[in-house]
Amino acid sequence: MADKLKELCKWKTDVYAKEFATLAEAVAKPRFVCLKCGRAARRKKWLCKPEKLPAAPAGK
Ligand SMILES: [Zn+2]
Repeated sequence: MADKLKELCKWKTDVYAKEFATLAEAVAKPRFVCLKCGRAARRKKWLCKPEKLPAAPAGK
Protein backbone atom coordinates (compact mmCIF):
# COMPACT_ATOMS: atom_id res chain seq x y z
CA MET A 1 0.00 0.00 0.00
CA ALA A 2 2.79 2.43 0.87
CA ASP A 3 4.16 2.06 -2.64
CA LYS A 4 0.96 3.33 -4.16
CA LEU A 5 1.08 6.69 -2.46
CA LYS A 6 1.28 9.71 -4.69
CA GLU A 7 3.69 12.60 -4.44
CA LEU A 8 4.07 14.15 -1.01
CA CYS A 9 2.95 17.39 -2.62
CA LYS A 10 -0.48 15.90 -3.17
CA TRP A 11 -0.98 14.22 0.16
CA LYS A 12 -3.80 15.46 2.29
CA THR A 13 -2.73 16.66 5.70
CA ASP A 14 -4.22 13.71 7.54
CA VAL A 15 -2.09 11.35 5.49
CA TYR A 16 1.11 12.73 6.98
CA ALA A 17 0.19 11.33 10.37
CA LYS A 18 -1.31 8.15 8.99
CA GLU A 19 1.67 7.34 6.79
CA PHE A 20 4.26 8.75 9.14
CA ALA A 21 6.79 5.95 8.58
CA THR A 22 6.60 6.42 4.82
CA LEU A 23 6.88 10.17 5.18
CA ALA A 24 9.88 9.90 7.48
CA GLU A 25 11.65 7.65 5.01
CA ALA A 26 10.71 9.82 2.04
CA VAL A 27 12.17 13.00 3.52
CA ALA A 28 15.23 11.51 5.21
CA LYS A 29 18.49 12.62 3.61
CA PRO A 30 16.72 14.60 0.88
CA ARG A 31 18.33 14.68 -2.55
CA PHE A 32 15.57 16.45 -4.45
CA VAL A 33 13.52 19.53 -3.83
CA CYS A 34 10.18 20.42 -5.35
CA LEU A 35 10.39 23.68 -7.26
CA LYS A 36 6.69 24.16 -6.97
CA CYS A 37 6.06 23.37 -3.31
CA GLY A 38 9.48 23.77 -1.69
CA ARG A 39 9.36 20.28 -0.24
CA ALA A 40 12.40 18.05 -0.08
CA ALA A 41 12.51 14.30 -0.50
CA ARG A 42 14.97 11.49 -1.04
CA ARG A 43 13.44 10.31 -4.30
CA LYS A 44 12.06 12.48 -7.03
CA LYS A 45 8.98 10.30 -7.28
CA TRP A 46 7.74 12.02 -4.13
CA LEU A 47 7.73 15.47 -5.69
CA CYS A 48 5.55 17.01 -8.39
CA LYS A 49 8.33 19.22 -9.80
CA PRO A 50 11.57 17.65 -8.58
CA GLU A 51 14.95 19.31 -8.95
CA LYS A 52 18.15 17.67 -7.80
CA LEU A 53 19.73 19.28 -4.78
CA PRO A 54 23.43 20.06 -4.92
CA ALA A 55 25.45 17.46 -3.05
CA ALA A 56 25.38 18.18 0.65
CA PRO A 57 28.75 18.90 2.17
CA ALA A 58 30.07 16.18 4.45
CA GLY A 59 29.36 16.66 8.11
CA LYS A 60 27.07 19.34 9.47
ZN1 LIG B 1 5.47 19.69 -5.39
